[in-house]
Amino acid sequence: MEEVQKVKDEALQMLGLFQVLPRLVVFDLDYTLWPFYCECRSKRDTPSLFPHSRGILHALKDKGIDAAIASKSPTPDIAKTFLDKLSITSMFVSQEIFYTGTHKTDHFQKIHVKTGVPFNSMLFFDDDNNNIRGVSEMGVTSILVRKGVTLGAFREGLTKFYQNWNASKGKGKRHT
Ligand SMILES: [Mg+2]
Repeated sequence: MEEVQKVKDEALQMLGLFQVLPRLVVFDLDYTLWPFYCECRSKRDTPSLFPHSRGILHALKDKGIDAAIASKSPTPDIAKTFLDKLSITSMFVSQEIFYTGTHKTDHFQKIHVKTGVPFNSMLFFDDDNNNIRGVSEMGVTSILVRKGVTLGAFREGLTKFYQNWNASKGKGKRHT
């Protein structure tokens, strides 16, 4: 629990460094928030998260930034059971967990309709480069994670979001 607090504090510190922040942060599940494919597990199992996941989620909550899930898991029932067991279900304003042939573009359409947040105000983490490419093209700042969502990936995401924001808004005139 102490570790969670430490990660949360560090994540909050990072959030404090940026003048522009995403309104919504979207996470994949398998190999992004947790270190397994839930289709290979049983509902009876006790799941665990990657070490930094919970602290980062708590920091977002504290900062008033919404979180959502975009997962192509073929076993949404197992995924939802695990979210409940981990007591993090309530942390997500939108949970899109369903399999499709697309690279999560339909997940993001649904998230957009549900939340009203524009794509360029979203930040997305996933371990699959095809999803990263597909969702980037919609205008979402998307970050490939290699060992789940870490504080390092989080910082990279906030930095890239800020850069993308300035690149799109800062053309011509710049406010200080
Ligand atoms: Mg994944």
